[in-house]
Amino acid sequence: MNFSSKLLEDAVHEFSKLPGVGQKTALRLVLHLLNKEQEEVMHFSNTLIKLKQQIKHCTVCNNISDHTICSICAAPKRDKELICVVEDTRDVMAIENTNQFFGVYHVLGGLISPMDGIGPSDLFIDGLVERAAKGSVKEIILALSATMEGDTTLFYLHKRLKDFQIPISTIARGIAFGGELEYADEVTLGRSIITRVPYENSILK
Ligand SMILES: [Zn+2]
Repeated sequence: MNFSSKLLEDAVHEFSKLPGVGQKTALRLVLHLLNKEQEEVMHFSNTLIKLKQQIKHCTVCNNISDHTICSICAAPKRDKELICVVEDTRDVMAIENTNQFFGVYHVLGGLISPMDGIGPSDLFIDGLVERAAKGSVKEIILALSATMEGDTTLFYLHKRLKDFQIPISTIARGIAFGGELEYADEVTLGRSIITRVPYENSILK
């Protein structure tokens, strides 16, 4: 792409770094913003800066939050003895949308993926082990994507958690293999949490 302006080129370059945004789309977005009032563009960029500077991770569950304890962990009505382990905040949102789960979450911040150089120490796993060790957890539901990385992570988590004598279950794989949680429809995802199975029964022998 030949740009008539270096400023334009720089902006397009930044936008094209976003997932799913190619150069053409980036150019369209930048030109769109350029046509907006200065005040509106300032508000847009300030929102992003504020997000980056002020966002926190809940110190209990690691979910993205405005406060040190997220609204789910802080809610008195939620069952703190039932922990649902998920990959990231998108999965929390997907499960919340089902209205079928009333426990709390634990957000790993990714899945174990040796191919991408992501090991257990890159994830918020020690935090989960600490929560399990406190002794007041009655069940841990591992709600991870039905992918190779999801299965590797399930296997590792089970190994780390099994000595605590806490029932560990996995969501029923009505979700097709290769299926990512956030793409499952709400009914399927809601049902898969209700019909969850003990981890031991879920692995092919
Ligand atoms: Zn939390």
